[in-house]
Formats: sequence, C-alpha cells, structure tokens
Amino acid sequence: MARKIQAVVNPGSGQPKPILHTLNQVFRTAGVEWDISLTQNSGDAERFAREAVEAGVDVVAAFGGDGTVMEVARGVMDSEVPMAILPGGTANLMSVELGIPKDLTKAAEIAANANSPIKSIDVGEIGGTYFLLRVGLGIAAQKVEIADRDMKDRYGIMAYSIAALKAMKDAKSVKYKFILDGEEFEAEGVTCLVDNAGNFGVSGFSASKKISVFDGLLDVILVRDRSFQSFVDVGKSVATSTPSSDTVYHWQAKEINIETDPPQKIQVDGEIGWQTPVAIKVIPAAVRILTGGE
Ligand SMILES: [Mg+2]
Repeated sequence: MARKIQAVVNPGSGQPKPILHTLNQVFRTAGVEWDISLTQNSGDAERFAREAVEAGVDVVAAFGGDGTVMEVARGVMDSEVPMAILPGGTANLMSVELGIPKDLTKAAEIAANANSPIKSIDVGEIGGTYFLLRVGLGIAAQKVEIADRDMKDRYGIMAYSIAALKAMKDAKSVKYKFILDGEEFEAEGVTCLVDNAGNFGVSGFSASKKISVFDGLLDVILVRDRSFQSFVDVGKSVATSTPSSDTVYHWQAKEINIETDPPQKIQVDGEIGWQTPVAIKVIPAAVRILTGGE
C-alpha cells in the first residue's frame, strides 16, 4: 500500500514561494499518496492533523513556522502517527533543533521516505497548553509583544534580538519563588525561561548542547541582572554546563511551579496570554517526528 501523507500548509507563513510543485515532484517520485489542507485560522492545523490521523495517514507533514509545527504536534500527540516538518516560517527553531533541512525538497524527501528515522521528543505543558520550545517570563514575554508581524517580515529572526534589547532597557528585578520537583528556591531575576528545546535562534543565546528535547527534563534559566553580558551568559552557562553563576541560574526539573512578585506576563511558544503563578511540567517522548539524522 502506498504511503499516505497529509500536508498541513499554513499559506500565511514567511516564505512567498510556490510549494505545491516541489511537494508534487518529491511525493510523486517517491510513489506517495498525498493531499493538503490549508489553514486559515489558529486551531485549523491541529484539527486537520487530528482528522488525518483518524483517516489513517502514515505521516502528517506541517508546512509553516513553529506555530504550525506546534499545532500539528498537538494533533498527532495522542497517536503513533509521526509528523514531518517542512520548514516554511520566519522562525523554524524546532526544525533547526532536529537537524531538518531548510531546503523544501530535502525536507519533503524525509517525509516521503518510509525509512526516515523517527525521534520522540518531549513536550512541555503549562495550564493545559502544550509547548515545544519554551515558556518565557518577564522580558522574554515582552520581547514577543514587541516583535510584531511587521518587524518579523523586515528583520526575520533578528526581530527577536532587537525586541529583546528594547525590552531589556526597561527591565526590573522581580522576586521569583520556584518549586522544582518538590524543592523550593527563591531568587531575584529580570527574566526567566523554561526551555524544552535548546535552540534559541537569537544571537548570544546560540544552540546549546545541554538543553535537550529528548532528556525528559525542562531547563529553568533565571537571568539575574539586566546587563547585556548576563544575557550572553545564558548561552555560556548552558554550553559549559556550569549550573549557576553570578548572573544566571540554571536548573533542570520535570515539574516546575513559579510564583513572582509582582506577577509577570508569560509567553508560551511565542504566544502571549498567561501570567504567574504557573505550574509547568514535561511530558516525555510525547510526539514522534521524522528526521534526517541518525
Ligand atoms: Mg529537555
């Protein structure tokens, strides 16, 4: 029986390039049966992915940015059906994390190949919402508000760095109270990240080996002062496995409770709309993803 792929396509994603021709070429050559669904509103990609699973497809392929990838991941989460990523957005951090090629032909070949390795990745959960990349509190939430669509179109991934610098100028120190797998910590900081994936996509926060989507743990990083150096230190701390420093604390845990004084805004995979206090946990190996690697 031919391999069946449902491609969930976000037509509003970053790259204004025709993609159907490429997909048709790759999938036809591979003898794959395929169809597409076009998303219009948020929630569509998740619904299409779930319907495709119920219809018995072998793969659900997500074309778009991290938002589309997250939605498709939610749609396949409770099944054994793997997803594939066809990077098409402004930010494709999850595909970078997993070593999935940016080139659409190569990415589609991974989806088409029945022998592509499947990796199970962890998913984070915050108040009933799932995330693949990270939760950000304080500055990390403000920079998402500042990096609007227009900035992202003009500056691409740099928009987040520019927005981070803007947000940092107004940063104030906040009291954080953590409960990490039952242990309590208190500390002051200007921003806090809870990371599932290590690829920050922002200069100074470059990909770290220590944060892993495969280890069943979330990484909690508290930036303690607002100097630029301390932002750079986040990258250093995780890269060199230093558990803490004067400017950055770094912990790992499965279950995380965070309270702050005053309450802080929270972004979840780039979406605003949460506020402390929060409970966050990891769901280990929750989503199966086709990769090109070993
Ligand atoms: Mg991890």
